[in-house]
Amino acid sequence: MAFEVPPLPYDYSALEPYIDTETMKLHHDKHHQAYVTNLNGAIEKHPDLAKHSAEDLLRNLNSVPEDVRTVVRNNGGGHVNHSMFWTIMKPGGGGEPTGAIGDQIKKDFGSFEDFKKQFNETTAKQFGSGWGWLIWDGKLKIVTTPNQDSPLSQGHFPILGNDVWEHAYYLKYQNRRPEYLAAWWNTVNWAEIGKRFEQAKK
Ligand code: MN
Repeated sequence: MAFEVPPLPYDYSALEPYIDTETMKLHHDKHHQAYVTNLNGAIEKHPDLAKHSAEDLLRNLNSVPEDVRTVVRNNGGGHVNHSMFWTIMKPGGGGEPTGAIGDQIKKDFGSFEDFKKQFNETTAKQFGSGWGWLIWDGKLKIVTTPNQDSPLSQGHFPILGNDVWEHAYYLKYQNRRPEYLAAWWNTVNWAEIGKRFEQAKK
């Protein structure tokens, strides 16, 4: 079974005005599709890899044949990262997290505002293309990765991640990455992130 781009769980325009319709179309239909197409190209060379989920391939990159390892790392990463990204946003999102994830953020960062500030500052500084992540490592931690590298490859389940490749924001925000980072919190789906927090702790 070839990998497929999951359908966007809302309309392309649903995250306006924070993420514009054109960016969503290109990002989902072109960029995500390209990662999936390239990942499937690697699987064609090694059909036995299709037994595994893309997440498991990223967790065990060293088991992936060397001739396609970089392709799987970049494009499997692109597929898994974006599949997460669409689900952790929603129309009418944002606000403050409640429940276990809200409590843990207060415990580890002092307040939700301090958490957002630290996430935005850390992620703004990621040089070039990459992602900002919230991971669980006995406590909540903010990390970044370059390119499409997934925290899964470092043994960490990503609770949330924001895409800071220019393709994620350039049409609307041009070079103003911090402005995009600040606006993005208005799209966040805390119910979904709360579920991912439970999964991360397992
Ligand atoms: Mn992207």
